[in-house]
Amino acid sequence: MIRDTFKSNPGLCELFKRKILERARFVGLSEGLIDFKAQIDMEGTYQDNLRILYREYPQLSQNSDYSRIKSVRLLSGAALEQSWRSYERNNGHEIPELLEDGERILSFPVNTFQSIIDCVTAMVGEKVTKMILHQIGQEIGSTAFNCSRDQILSDNLAEALDRVLSIRGWGQVLDLEKTDHGSRVTYVCTVKGCPLCYKRVSTSPACDIMRGIVSGWLKSLVQKNVESIENACVATGSPPCVFQVTFRK
Ligand SMILES: [Zn+2]
Repeated sequence: MIRDTFKSNPGLCELFKRKILERARFVGLSEGLIDFKAQIDMEGTYQDNLRILYREYPQLSQNSDYSRIKSVRLLSGAALEQSWRSYERNNGHEIPELLEDGERILSFPVNTFQSIIDCVTAMVGEKVTKMILHQIGQEIGSTAFNCSRDQILSDNLAEALDRVLSIRGWGQVLDLEKTDHGSRVTYVCTVKGCPLCYKRVSTSPACDIMRGIVSGWLKSLVQKNVESIENACVATGSPPCVFQVTFRK
């Protein structure tokens, strides 16, 4: 259906080409890849384009760009058709919305997000802000757990958490180590490139959402209440952020 639509409507073809390029930039694909994608003839479906991409860049499956490619891939199929329907509904005018897997999403720079956190802190104080951010993180963490449920069974935990976080720009999970202390169990999670403390300097750990994400994810895993602290933070001068999550047996 999409293929025929493109053939009969060159303008629409251009529109989707632009959307795909925007999306590619959004997920941080390198300029070279974007240039290459720009040359792709949009008479084919997006799946066809991806196959070309894999053939031309086999190394993608070996490095971190792979997760980004998977994210671009979400533009295909249902999302593309939904965009087309919305284009028709609006008499050929493009509604500027960003779709992923058929769902509308938002994107903004990390420093905008940090400014929002600063505003909330100024309004309600640090203690309440930290609680709210941790709560938000826990929600994200439990959603992330549901997305990574299948991988958790077979893979190691760090890899399963990393897969679901890195695709969203939350950085890289270097390690997730479990220690059994008898009456309690601790998990220590090391995160490199956390966006919350990106280019930030602070006297105390600043990544409450990430602390929430890690604890929310583990809370879903162990099905018990957990306590969490951020042991080390990039904002205070430590190379990676380190989060410790504890639960009592
Ligand atoms: Zn941090």
